[in-house]
Amino acid sequence: FVANVSHELKTPLTSIRLFAELLLQKRQPDEKRREEYLHIMVAEAERLSHLVDNVLTFSRQESGSVSRRRAPLDLGVLTAEVGEQLRPHLEREGFDVLVEADSPLPVEGDGEGLRQVLMNLLSNAEKYTGDVRSVELVARSEGREAVVEVRDRGIGVEGRYAERIFHDFFRVDDTLTAPRRGTGLGLSIARGIARDHGGDVTYAPRPGGGSVFALHLPMTLPKEE
Ligand code: ADP
Repeated sequence: FVANVSHELKTPLTSIRLFAELLLQKRQPDEKRREEYLHIMVAEAERLSHLVDNVLTFSRQESGSVSRRRAPLDLGVLTAEVGEQLRPHLEREGFDVLVEADSPLPVEGDGEGLRQVLMNLLSNAEKYTGDVRSVELVARSEGREAVVEVRDRGIGVEGRYAERIFHDFFRVDDTLTAPRRGTGLGLSIARGIARDHGGDVTYAPRPGGGSVFALHLPMTLPKEE
């Protein structure tokens, strides 16, 4: 675990350092290229802080010391915020991005934790992409539940792995030469947070190819008179 996580932390650090050094040498005359280096540095710094968030959440979940502040919030608004926050990065990476969030979707929850769930699902949609780069983020109500779906057209998950992907450290391709790196913690953390809220995160294959990951939360319905 420590070796794998350290490796994951070092990769973005190495590339931030590399591009910072390139900029310091001032040998890149092309303004566009310099800007590209800065974008890479920002994206890698974000990746790093996302990883650190996951490692911290994992160790808190393990030690049972998660204390979640609950407050009434609108899952539709939160979904739209996360989507718009990630849109520029995803579009730069060549993704078609659709964000469609109904509002209000009243839930009782920890905004930071729920944000982390959506970030984990969206970063997987980006990471496990195939040739068709498309992400849809859709929030709506289904009966008494608020549901946020993250739909991609990526490599999908074989049926036999559909449950195991939610286990700690499980990765479909966990070889050192795997084309996509990771810790295998993102989905178990996402599910842990959702279950803490009385909800869940589920996987379904997407008709036409790809994956649909869904966050389900109980809605706070107005009390009946
Ligand atoms: P990590 O991405 O760090 O490996 P996760 O817990 O987020 O860890 O995911 C576990 C595994 O589930 C991944 O290694 C990958 O095999 C599979 N997976 C997750 N999200 C997707 C997705 N959107 N499309 C295809 N496979 C996925």
